[in-house]
Amino acid sequence: MSKFTVKQTLAALGAPYSQPCQPTPVAAPHWLAFNPALAAKLQLPEKYWLTDAGLGLFSGNTLPDWVKPVAHAYAGHQFGHFVPQLGDGRALLLAELEDANGQLFDVQLKGAGRTPFSRRGDGRAPLGPVLREYLVSEAMHALGVPTTRALAAVITGDWLQRETAEPGAIITRVAKSHIRIGSFQYVAAHGDAAQLKTFANYVIARHYPQCSQAANPYLALLEAVISAQAQLIAKWMSLGFIHGVMNTDNMSISGETIDYGPCAFMDAFNPAQVYSFIDKQGRYAWGNQSKIASWNLTRFAETLLPLLSAEPEQAIELATTALQQFNGENEAAFLQLMGEKIGLKSATKDDEVLIRDLLNLMSANSADFSQTFRLLSLSVANTTQGAAQLFADSSSWQQWANRWQTRLTAQGLALNEVQQQMDATNPALIPRNHQIAKAIELASTEGDLSLFNRLHNELQTPFELIEANADLALPPTAEQCIGNTFCGT
Ligand code: AMP
Ligand code: MG
Repeated sequence: MSKFTVKQTLAALGAPYSQPCQPTPVAAPHWLAFNPALAAKLQLPEKYWLTDAGLGLFSGNTLPDWVKPVAHAYAGHQFGHFVPQLGDGRALLLAELEDANGQLFDVQLKGAGRTPFSRRGDGRAPLGPVLREYLVSEAMHALGVPTTRALAAVITGDWLQRETAEPGAIITRVAKSHIRIGSFQYVAAHGDAAQLKTFANYVIARHYPQCSQAANPYLALLEAVISAQAQLIAKWMSLGFIHGVMNTDNMSISGETIDYGPCAFMDAFNPAQVYSFIDKQGRYAWGNQSKIASWNLTRFAETLLPLLSAEPEQAIELATTALQQFNGENEAAFLQLMGEKIGLKSATKDDEVLIRDLLNLMSANSADFSQTFRLLSLSVANTTQGAAQLFADSSSWQQWANRWQTRLTAQGLALNEVQQQMDATNPALIPRNHQIAKAIELASTEGDLSLFNRLHNELQTPFELIEANADLALPPTAEQCIGNTFCGT
């Protein structure tokens, strides 16, 4: 066994950033899932791999002495309304572990019982949302999207009261950290100037050490987070991913996707698609995600103002200029990614219209988002093939496809090279909502994890499509279609 390096850097900072808190024991824990590759990456001793010692650790029932659990304090804007105290109400940071490169990762239980931040909640997580987060976060990782990972999941043996009684479960999440925009909002709302500076310095050292060399480290931090989020949101959108609850407490400072709740990959393309049943206004719709990220980053910038400059007006000017970078970087990243999806090695400003027109066509024809792009490689050689079948309006498709062909030809690349690149960019398999729902139903009603395990395995190689997985690549039929996902609590 290689070395095993445990740190407690957030716990060491103490209040107001975190509070010590023990998990509440559960009745009869059993394994649901374990991620050996991630455990190996974290150099976790094998005595915790699918063993009783591991079950004790990942259920919170028997903690080894290297664990020192704390609940992290954060605030946040929820659907635009500021809540000064949220915090880890059902999550506990166990420890931070180093990988072989010295990169630090949080290991966190979610659903381990009440904490000082639980308010009226029970601190628990139902089986369904735990399986959903496990599947979707690991699929996102396989798709190359920065994300929290899933290390373990256990069923607790206790029942939770939600709309109906549901089995309780605990997921162990791994992230570069779970520090959010809301973490800064908490310190800004409750702490003093010195505490804000301590926290910003901690975050710089942990996530953006190069910023400490900048003339204005806190401005550099703001710029780095803006850039990370601009890239992340472009990536989400290029995959048809909808986070669902982009509150400021669900947006990480490291630029990883965090807090999988009512999230989903879209089936039929609709830019106004939402999945959270409470999101009546479409605040967190697919097509609003860039605007909302920018709004959230503005809230982040506000917390940093006292550190940006001693002169309030200058601080605002610096923050405003930094925030203006978001749109340009996000649009450029989205253009590049979407260009690659349609076979362009390097998309230019002129290609924006071509891409937008395809999206409009997809939306008008309710074409499946992932299938359109995956099948597009089959249309490269013959535009009546492949994606053509998804467009009821075949003449509009043909007109678009002719323009696309002209553009592809101008690139001067071999067609099979273009096709290969497209198949390596456009996933055949995404975690489809109706399949996740089916896997959860089987697990909850019959204790049958076979579909969960199958989805989990196959989603590790989302760009490969074998005959045996043809069913997983298909969009839902009208009867299988699921409008809303769970709220995740
Ligand atoms: P989320 O919607 O999961 O991002 O959570 C928003 C806030 O509600 C966070 O402060 C959570 O810790 C808290 N929360 C969500 N569910 C529960 C629960 N079952 N018990 C206690 N707190 C919860
Ligand atoms: Mg959250």
